[in-house]
Amino acid sequence: MPTTVNAFGAHETGQPLVPLTLQRRDVGTHDVKLDILYCGICHSDINFVGGAFGPLPTSPLVPGHEVVGRVTEVGSDVTRHQVGDLVGIGCMVNSCRECENCRAGQEQYCLKGHTLVFGSPDPVEPGAHTQGGYSEAIVAPEDFVVRVPETLDPAAAAPLLCAGITVYAPLERFGARQGTKVAVVGLGGLGHLGVKMAKAMGADVTVLSQSDSKREASTALGADHYAVTGDGQAFTELANTFDIILNTVSAPVNLPDYLGMLRLHGTMVNVGVTTEPMPMDVFTLCQNGRSYVGSLFGGIAETQEMLDFAAEHGVTADIEMIGAQDINTAYERILASDVRYRFVIDGATFADLKA
Ligand code: ZN
Ligand code: ZN
Repeated sequence: MPTTVNAFGAHETGQPLVPLTLQRRDVGTHDVKLDILYCGICHSDINFVGGAFGPLPTSPLVPGHEVVGRVTEVGSDVTRHQVGDLVGIGCMVNSCRECENCRAGQEQYCLKGHTLVFGSPDPVEPGAHTQGGYSEAIVAPEDFVVRVPETLDPAAAAPLLCAGITVYAPLERFGARQGTKVAVVGLGGLGHLGVKMAKAMGADVTVLSQSDSKREASTALGADHYAVTGDGQAFTELANTFDIILNTVSAPVNLPDYLGMLRLHGTMVNVGVTTEPMPMDVFTLCQNGRSYVGSLFGGIAETQEMLDFAAEHGVTADIEMIGAQDINTAYERILASDVRYRFVIDGATFADLKA
């Protein structure tokens, strides 16, 4: 029997979220079901319900893609997880599993399109759309559920499932390690984890920020240096300096300014997403043999690797816990940059909602 669960979601694009109920499918042979303990709030959730990515893909839409929960039921063919395990679900819950990218463990780049944890047509349940983590419980294929080490604070670990892997994957791919000079642009949900992950990898970390206002916060997170970019002087002073620039800002930046700070064979990675154009200066790119790349969260195997790395190095997000009834207020505060650094919803509070 499908189960009815309390959830929080949007009926119309751009409207506030409201309490509602959802049907979760029966646990199939390859599925696991979890009680949701915590769910982080990512800026992408706001973009989805606010209309920045277009009209709601389905109505209602229940967002949430930074889920930590405990397994309560497993299908008969499940081998990866057991009842009682602490597990996580991030941005996606399925992919074709057969294309070149899936076979390379990069399911986020599935050539047939991955299935997002919410708002995607669900290949397991034809006709239905997936619904996310702002709810009491969720059912997902075991292959897209990762193990959360018990030594991590499960609430502070929730944001690792999107923000954490989004910064970890490119830092790892472009070789952040002892002695690497890494710059993190922007100090929000992504940026603060970028600093922590890069430090845990042994890198020398500089935070680049518009103004001086985040200097103390940057030091508190463990960054080695802080540079103000607002007056443009940093671009000259730090020319030819960094091996990796991790741009977490979801708005256009002046690319040539930043590319000029890359040293020999340095790479600038965009993990912040904007729909606005960002003009490129090819001459600056060619100097020092620089690269400019984008990166989209991460594959399942590397998400597991990231969680194990986070446990080994004690990396979690700095969070502010809220109840489900405060989600709309949290959205407003995120849009006003008034959070350090991630809101996490206490999953126990969904039980109290009245739809
Ligand atoms: Zn996200
Ligand atoms: Zn695929």
